[in-house]
Amino acid sequence: MFDVVISGAGPAGSKSAQILAEGGFEVALIEKDINWRKPCGGAVSSRIFKYYPQLRKLNYPPNTGVTIYSGDYRKIKYSWKNIRDYSINVDRLEFDNFVRNIAIEAGAQLFNKNISYDFVTKNSRRVGIKTKTPSGTKEYLGKILIIADGMSSKLAPKSGLKGKWKIDEIGLCKCAIMEGENLLDKDSISLFFRAYKGYGWIFPIDDKRFNIGCGTWLDENLNSNLNQIYTEFLNDPHIKKFFPKSHYKEIWNGAYPIPALGVKEKSLYGDNIMIIGDAAGFVSPISGEGIHPSIVSGKCAAETAIEALKNDDISKQSLKKYKQHPNIKKIIRNFKMKVSMVEFLFENKGQNLSKMFELADTDDKIREEVINMFLFSIPPSKELLLKIQS
Ligand SMILES: Cc1cc2nc3c(=O)[nH]c(=O)nc-3n(C[C@H](O)[C@H](O)[C@H](O)COP(=O)(O)OP(=O)(O)OC[C@H]3O[C@@H](n4cnc5c(N)ncnc54)[C@H](O)[C@@H]3O)c2cc1C
Repeated sequence: MFDVVISGAGPAGSKSAQILAEGGFEVALIEKDINWRKPCGGAVSSRIFKYYPQLRKLNYPPNTGVTIYSGDYRKIKYSWKNIRDYSINVDRLEFDNFVRNIAIEAGAQLFNKNISYDFVTKNSRRVGIKTKTPSGTKEYLGKILIIADGMSSKLAPKSGLKGKWKIDEIGLCKCAIMEGENLLDKDSISLFFRAYKGYGWIFPIDDKRFNIGCGTWLDENLNSNLNQIYTEFLNDPHIKKFFPKSHYKEIWNGAYPIPALGVKEKSLYGDNIMIIGDAAGFVSPISGEGIHPSIVSGKCAAETAIEALKNDDISKQSLKKYKQHPNIKKIIRNFKMKVSMVEFLFENKGQNLSKMFELADTDDKIREEVINMFLFSIPPSKELLLKIQS
């Protein structure tokens, strides 16, 4: 019997496992496949170093700027060199194994090639997780169960805490890592809002490699074909101009869903169970940033589990502290503000955003408001919103 069984060794599950193991608890960390590269842009704020100081030694080149484009390619550029946290671009295969190994070094037991598919129940109580392995089914019994297996989680909908994802509450994205000569600004990331509900990105990884991708959001998923919009994005003349030689090599590509409406507040915990990371919606609704919030959710859930185990109270009432953690409350608040902005940003075929950037071009105060909204989660003033709509 483990103290805690965690399904999914992505960033959220690995952080939880590490903290619990460091606290001296017996942790089973169940993973489908450590050789899977999660489809992801891989851009992470340097705030990640607070959670993983060990990452500093990998010397990722810092990105100290962002260029955001509206659907009609009006742009706003911002450099924050020496002002705020920078961002780094990670390869998810390397990153996920890096954070997994930290959990293992702390004492968590990793069970690779295990696909969680259901709960073990006893007297109508969940007491463990069932998995399929190449050599048959296995059961991992634990006092507390943590669901961290992302968007494809089979356990989250079976937990009774949340339903299956609906097509119009998620994003659908496709991305690739490419290699070749390019004209990208190596210090800066680029985000491309589209005239439809969706956006694309280009994140330089090093001199030659970059991550490129795009996706559709919410009800737009019903109208668009992901492969088609991806091909169109790559062949758009505004995008192609970064790659004049056009003989770049695709190293890898993948497609995957992403939560788009913020944290599933009502689904975070129950008797002896918590849901963390993507499985619970910890992804920023505007930028799609989910690595950092998932790690924060993993840490808060682990701290809650430690207290619950020490007090010998793993009830729903006791695990409620996960949702009440100040960092979780802050994320929920921040994401709610962003959800409220999404419709506005994509209204009129993206013209609101275009108008916002146009106004920002001529007025420094508005420019500051726009930057504050995208980078510092400060809502724009009513005056600005009215000006845009007028
Ligand atoms: C295309 C795309 C681009 C993105 N770009 C960015 C970005 O640039 N920056 C950013 O911060 N965020 C980005 N995100 C979001 C980010 O990828 C996620 O928020 C983050 O990976 C969530 O971490 P997690 O640990 O919750 O889930 P995941 O990273 O999905 O990890 C889940 C883990 O569980 C395992 N697993 C799944 N099912 C099972 C099972 N049945 N049994 C056992 N194990 C299982 C998986 O193999 C995986 O290791 C992007 C997402 C997508 C889809």
